[in-house]
Amino acid sequence: MAVNRVPLLAGNWKMNLDHLQAIAFVQKLAWTLKDASHDVESAEVAVFPPFTDLRSVQTLIAADKLPIAFGAQDVSMHDSGAYTGEISGAFLSQLDCTYVIIGHSERRTLHGEDDSVVAAKTAAAVKHGLVPVICVGETAEDLEKHGPSAVPVAQLRVALDGLGAAADIVVAYEPVWAIGSGQAATPDQAEQVAAALRSVIRELLGEDAAARTRILYGGSVKSSNIAGFMREPNVDGALVGGASLDVNEFASIVRFQK
Ligand code: PGA
Repeated sequence: MAVNRVPLLAGNWKMNLDHLQAIAFVQKLAWTLKDASHDVESAEVAVFPPFTDLRSVQTLIAADKLPIAFGAQDVSMHDSGAYTGEISGAFLSQLDCTYVIIGHSERRTLHGEDDSVVAAKTAAAVKHGLVPVICVGETAEDLEKHGPSAVPVAQLRVALDGLGAAADIVVAYEPVWAIGSGQAATPDQAEQVAAALRSVIRELLGEDAAARTRILYGGSVKSSNIAGFMREPNVDGALVGGASLDVNEFASIVRFQK
């Protein structure tokens, strides 16, 4: 992690916690962080609840001025219209979402989202003032065939196509083989790919964007392995799935020790 980038520790709840559970969770997370005197300047915390929780989470965070950011797990590439079941970026902005996850491997594999869909959703997010958390990562088969960086680099190139240099983005490197498997990448592996992804940002969006964009690692992150990732110069935080559903565990991840 470079000193000029505030690390981002993000919890991807996936399809877990309804809106009542979300309220209890966010309250408890805020208390736990406060008890531990968590310094928000030293690390930003964000949660990504299901769509149906967002209004409740927004209201709670605004009412109690909690130092927790939030975002959605997906967004439509369209602005409005006859798209049954879709959620527009405009709606998410209205709910004060800061972030939106785009191209998570579960969306890519279970919902057939290819690189062009990811690029369209990235553009839609930026258009509506949301910061896209663009997920890229290789499968175990890709890793064997092409090595660690080729697939994530190719995915990111398509996602960034057409974005302006001023676009505010976050990139999450999530090897598919590490997600939910308990088998995280090593900090070295994460650093190698994160460095390659930063080069792509430099090439396509310029030096400023490369210097300010946070690149997260995701895939079986826990409180016991976060510190290793955070020591790497190109890793600026984590996208956490399973371990983000336990308040104490997630709070420990947020308070990673270097
Ligand atoms: P995991 O999931 O932490 O449970 O491996 C990460 C993710 O899918 O974002």
